[in-house]
Amino acid sequence: MQRSATRGRRRLELHSSERQMTVRLMLATALLWLATDPFAAERDRMVREQIEARGIRDADVLRVMRDTPRHRFVPALLRAHACDDAPLPIGHGATISQPFVVALMTELLEPGRRHTVLEIGTGSGYQAAVLARLVRHVYTIEIVPELARSAASLLAELGYGNVTVRQGDGYQGWPGLAPFDRIILTAAPPEVPQALLDQLARGGRLVAPVGSAWRGQDLVVIDKTASGAIRRRTASAVQFVPMVHGPDDKP
Ligand code: SAH
Repeated sequence: MQRSATRGRRRLELHSSERQMTVRLMLATALLWLATDPFAAERDRMVREQIEARGIRDADVLRVMRDTPRHRFVPALLRAHACDDAPLPIGHGATISQPFVVALMTELLEPGRRHTVLEIGTGSGYQAAVLARLVRHVYTIEIVPELARSAASLLAELGYGNVTVRQGDGYQGWPGLAPFDRIILTAAPPEVPQALLDQLARGGRLVAPVGSAWRGQDLVVIDKTASGAIRRRTASAVQFVPMVHGPDDKP
């Protein structure tokens, strides 16, 4: 009688020490997670409060927004604000877009695993990084040489092997690699450049802010049908930096 009570107690003790061990392990994992990715919890909140709350539902988009280390794409001095509900300056008159706008444009683009994407306006490289986890390859063009260089080296450092950055004028697109399944502009032209429409594959989609500071800008979604017809709709009002012309291409 006494022996079995002792055994029972031992079993209880064992259980409680196992429980303690599990709790310790969980704590250690959480600490390790915080130490290796101190912004993970902030990104979680960013996705919940800014992105899901405003109606973005695509599970892949939400997952990638949660996983992409946005703090690495903003200037070191602004790191504490990386997950703020706002665009942030990244130098040379450029901005990294507000998290919600990146998520919205990514969802509107309907990226697919086999897609080849052209982006105009690399900036920090953040939008390209988000897309890179959802498609086969991202080709991205940036007009400011310093931004093109720093985005390319950051994306390489972070292991984004399926992004190619080129310094150049996005008004010309990338004719040698066309057609593209998807095209995204993150700088606003007054009208969608014909060269980019020509480089969009049949069955493809282009998402772009279109307009000007004084006229206002709209986020435009353009589909090219299987027969090559163009269908256009407006998603919402937005505010992007203007798409500028290269030195050899004054309008
Ligand atoms: N997608 C970026 C946001 C970029 S802001 C990000 O995730 O950080 C818009 C960018 O478009 C700026 O870096 C600007 O220099 C670039 N840009 C403006 N006109 C351009 C053009 N004609 N061709 C290529 N890039 C252009």
